[in-house]
Amino acid sequence: MGILFLNMLSGASLGSFACCMIIRLKAHRPVWGRSVCEHCGQVLKPADLIPVISYIRARGRCRYCGCRISPETMVFEGIGALAGLLFTVSRGW
Ligand SMILES: [Zn+2]
Repeated sequence: MGILFLNMLSGASLGSFACCMIIRLKAHRPVWGRSVCEHCGQVLKPADLIPVISYIRARGRCRYCGCRISPETMVFEGIGALAGLLFTVSRGW
């Protein structure tokens, strides 16, 4: 059960990273640097960066300005978590 959770969290983190890179590249912003709110520019704290959980806890909105967070972030994290689940199951762990 522990390895399943770890692989799902890793997959969700990779999905979140991929989504972040896509958003930054589409906006012609640098790909390095801290994560910020797309609307207010507030630097996000570690508690705001937990894949899936942070999105659900904040109900899809920025904790600082209340603007809606792009739902594609959640989709990418969900796909990543699902990939982690399928990887774990396919290995028989
Ligand atoms: Zn904000």
